[in-house]
Amino acid sequence: MLRVENLMNSFGDFRAVDGANLAVEKGKIVAVIGPNGAGKTTLFNLITGHLKPEAGKIIFKGEDITGLPPYTICKKGIARSFQLLNIFPRLTVFDNVQVAVLSQHNRSLHLFRPAKNLLVAETNHILENVGLLGKSQKIAGSLSQGDQKILEIAIALGNEPEFLILDEPTAGMSAEETTATMALVKRLAVEQGLTLLFCEHDIDIVFSMADRIMVMQQGKTIIEGTPDEVRQNEQVQQAYMGGS
Ligand code: ADP
Ligand code: MG
Repeated sequence: MLRVENLMNSFGDFRAVDGANLAVEKGKIVAVIGPNGAGKTTLFNLITGHLKPEAGKIIFKGEDITGLPPYTICKKGIARSFQLLNIFPRLTVFDNVQVAVLSQHNRSLHLFRPAKNLLVAETNHILENVGLLGKSQKIAGSLSQGDQKILEIAIALGNEPEFLILDEPTAGMSAEETTATMALVKRLAVEQGLTLLFCEHDIDIVFSMADRIMVMQQGKTIIEGTPDEVRQNEQVQQAYMGGS
């Protein structure tokens, strides 16, 4: 479904992504791991069009999407959440998700129909799915950090993606919240047939949940394979498992 070939991107003289390669099959759950600064967020920004690569290719469903703007890529079916929260803190939970649903249905610019009444069922369905329906009239900024991260996932789902990218969806969460959130993400992916690309610091969760894992270091893909294959890799063992 997605193929990333030898992607490169620099900030000034610094190569943040320096030969990233990735292949994601439809319906699979794929994790990107690597130390802070490895280039994971930059890679996601390149895939979603928030950055333009200097070199390399991004192929989505057989189509070259390299360098297209974010809204075009979103319309093609790729939605994402951000490592740093990206919600409307002063709108209600419901309104945050409805904005995404409306935009996906090209409804946000209808002048003579009150948008408030449109696609309410669709919006509520998403909120119910992620467990936020009971909080739909709360102001988004008043939610706990964990619920705000889940709201961001709900907003991404509002775009009706086929391919969902989650950049550290559990950042700032307790161990318990992290486990619950990743279980939710897995359930959503399976139920909705989503293809999922994510990065997550909790290595145990990554190895138990992902079908495939790509390891990045200094902007490069050092290995991509099944959890077992990645576990056997010497560089990975040194970096993550104390060499044992
Ligand atoms: P990760 O998500 O794996 O922690 P990032 O992709 O955020 O890594 O960052 C990769 C490297 O690129 C880091 O060294 C970071 O400081 C640098 N970087 C990221 N974004 C920018 C930017 N907008 N300007 C300059 N340097 C950046
Ligand atoms: Mg990051």
